[in-house]
Amino acid sequence: MVRTRERVAIVGAGPAGAFAAACLFRARGDAEIDLFERLPTPWGLLRGGVAPDHQEIKRLEDTFDRQTLQRGCRFLGNVEVGTDISHAELMRHYTAVVYATGAQTDKSLGIPGEDLPGSWPATEFVAWYNGHPDYRGVEFDLSAERAVVIGNGNVAADVTRMLTLSAHELERTDVADHALEALRESRIEEVIVLGRRGPAQAAFTSAELRELGRLDGVDTRVDPADVELDPASRRWLAEEGTFTARKNVELLREFAATPARPDARRRIELRFLRSPVEIRGSGRVEALDVRRNEIVRAGDGSLRARPVDGDLETIECGLVLRSVGYRAVPLPDVPFDERHFVLPNERGRVLTPAGEPLPGVYAVGWIKRGPTGILGTNKRDAEETVSCLAEDLRAGALPQPPNPGREQIDALLAERKPDLVTVEGWRAIDGHELERGRSEQRPRVKLASRDELLAAAAAPAPS
Ligand code: NAP
Repeated sequence: MVRTRERVAIVGAGPAGAFAAACLFRARGDAEIDLFERLPTPWGLLRGGVAPDHQEIKRLEDTFDRQTLQRGCRFLGNVEVGTDISHAELMRHYTAVVYATGAQTDKSLGIPGEDLPGSWPATEFVAWYNGHPDYRGVEFDLSAERAVVIGNGNVAADVTRMLTLSAHELERTDVADHALEALRESRIEEVIVLGRRGPAQAAFTSAELRELGRLDGVDTRVDPADVELDPASRRWLAEEGTFTARKNVELLREFAATPARPDARRRIELRFLRSPVEIRGSGRVEALDVRRNEIVRAGDGSLRARPVDGDLETIECGLVLRSVGYRAVPLPDVPFDERHFVLPNERGRVLTPAGEPLPGVYAVGWIKRGPTGILGTNKRDAEETVSCLAEDLRAGALPQPPNPGREQIDALLAERKPDLVTVEGWRAIDGHELERGRSEQRPRVKLASRDELLAAAAAPAPS
């Protein structure tokens, strides 16, 4: 009997999906891979998350392109799985389906005033300045003098930089044109970044924290009292502290010891052991009330923030960016772990509610492990999932789907998605954006609305 080539659908063309496709080619050179993507463009958070001033990271897209699309992996963009095509339909056409859909929404703070105009999830600010087409029409009011960023992770670091970089610095990046225009007019002079725990528990990676202290024309301040570690943190740092935590504390001590720069264009102030309790304002954000915390060791050994009795502090501000983490959303007809906001899985094999592997269904990236780790973390993660998939294929554990032919899925998509964006469409978009970038001495000028993207995808690529 002639063995048919295995056909695998990867849902989500972000870093996790791209690493999974590259890994699958290495493990099963003859597999046919279709990369489904909701947007007309591939590479997910590499395009729509990584900050525009981090162009060196964005170069990873060349590697993704070489290791996936140039090897024959098909790009099926502008197709939303769960809406345009169901999970059951995918299972009828593919031997295996790998979900790489990431974490599409934000965690909420659960405090009064969180939804006042002027209070935004940082994830939406990120999507807006990166030209995500769903955020093209959003308007951020940057007319106040002070903004507050809540959270101490790398997204908080990214949005803080974006609020403080000069127009000249932004003009050299691929920041979306609408964001560039708004940021040029920004009147924000000070960004206060609040960590609910202390300097030793900050989630920044050290390179990102160091960068905050080296911004041109920006005075980055830390109150020396804030870098005095409490006894529990001091002991933790000495006995169990990670390299990153030690480095972060060292950097924050340096920031605290640096003399103020009254001539600076803008200021960043990093404050610790502060939690927001209410966002206030009549009709829009005018102030944020914060309480002080102390660090206590919880029963499970972790160091937690506990409120300290005392007066609340009020910070007047006109913009609040809540940067407290991403959160995954359930996918129609696929099991979901509502406690951990992931697809229930064992090493990437998705499990039924009874805890049995769901044959042919896999997960990779943030939908598998939660929104943690840097881009490179997805490589190891993809290797684990793909090794399970390859093992199941070798063992003959995955039944042949009823409609295995490529032409069968193509016929279905042609009927449902006349504006499907294939690799040729993406190359046309890419060529168009790069060409405009060249003429403006920028890395690329992004098309930031779905209509513009689809129109460019339909036009021949510039030669
Ligand atoms: P994150 O690293 O998980 O940081 C979330 C921050 O929010 C933490 O400081 C956390 O404090 C705080 N937080 C959570 N709930 C809170 C609450 N109720 N009140 C106040 N603070 C709260 O998440 P992220 O910044 O969204 O980043 C997601 C992942 O992407 C991370 O792994 C990050 O490293 C990665 N990323 C990397 C880069 C880069 O490499 N340049 C850039 C962007 C993102 P606690 O620690 O106390 O919970």
